[in-house]
Order: sequence, then structure tokens, then C-alpha cells
Amino acid sequence: KILNPAARSQVTQDLSENIILTTVDDLHNWARLSSLWPLLYGTACCFIEFAALIGSRFDFDRFGLVPRSSPRQADLLITAGTVTMKMAPALVRLYEEMPDPKYVIAMGACTITGGMFSSDSTTAVRGVDKLIPVDVYIPGCPPRPEAIFDAIIKLRKKVSNETIQERATVMEQTHRYYSTPH
Ligand code: SF4
Repeated sequence: KILNPAARSQVTQDLSENIILTTVDDLHNWARLSSLWPLLYGTACCFIEFAALIGSRFDFDRFGLVPRSSPRQADLLITAGTVTMKMAPALVRLYEEMPDPKYVIAMGACTITGGMFSSDSTTAVRGVDKLIPVDVYIPGCPPRPEAIFDAIIKLRKKVSNETIQERATVMEQTHRYYSTPH
């Protein structure tokens, strides 16, 4: 039966109000960005700001962020603090133990470039992205909790814009690149 324009408009409005049209990618991304679980990982003073973020003042949980102590249950690694050469193998191992798809936020000058240890120290890693892939960088010494939120919002946008296939390809290339000695 052919509907008149008014009835058709009513049907269109009813459909838009009652049916959610989406794709598997959108549904998958929505689930992932709403439940990013960060690993509790901190090696120096930057972690104090990360710990403050977890407190009630900032309502960290509203983004679905639930800190985990096991890498097996985490899909977000925030490298908060200086990474020393001695710590580097442990960091890589933690990253490898996290299930795919997973993300990394590099927090603070020390973790991004070596910070104040970058010029004459032989014990600090000068850039955590030499060890593991980084999705978002947070400059600062230390970055405030609001800056971490900003990074998480940027990461959520990144997650919402990728397809399952794109992330799988990135993960595969990443594993191949970082498992090859350089
Ligand atoms: Fe500490 Fe600053 Fe380095 Fe963060 S960036 S670990 S606050 S010295």
C-alpha cells in the first residue's frame, strides 16, 4: 500500500526514533572505547598524577576505565614515568601479554624522550616508542590528570574511527616490526 506523504513522514520519524542502524565495526568500536581497561603501570613520579586520576575527584570510571593489575585483563597501557634500560624487557613483556587489540599512551617527558635523563644518562630509555608502539603522547613533567583525560578522549576518537580489519592489520605489522631486532 502506498502511503501518503504525511504518513510516510510519520513512519520515517518512528523508524529513526525506534531503530538504531549501525555496523559491526561501529558496535565493536563502541564496546571497546567504552571499556578501555588500563594496566596499573608506573615507574616514577608521573604515576602520582595517574594515581590521582583514579581517585574519586576525577570520576575516572565514567569512561568505563577500570584499572587492572594483570596484563591479561588490560587493553590500555599508560607508561607513567621514566623507563630504565633494566625495566625495558619487563615493559615489553607486559605489553606482549596484553590481548589484542591494545593501545598505549606515553605519559610525560621521561617516557616520551628520556626527559631530564635524555642527554647524559645511559640508564634511561630515550623514547618508549623504541620498545612498543605508542598511540597517544602526553607531554609534560608531570602531565596533570586533565591531560590524561584529554589523551583518553583522543584515544577514544581513534578507536571509534578504525575498522576491525584496520586494527588487526596494525597489530600484525606492529608485532612483526617490534619482534625484529633493530
Ligand atoms: Fe617525573 Fe617529570 Fe619524568 Fe614524569 S616526566 S617521571 S614527573 S621527572
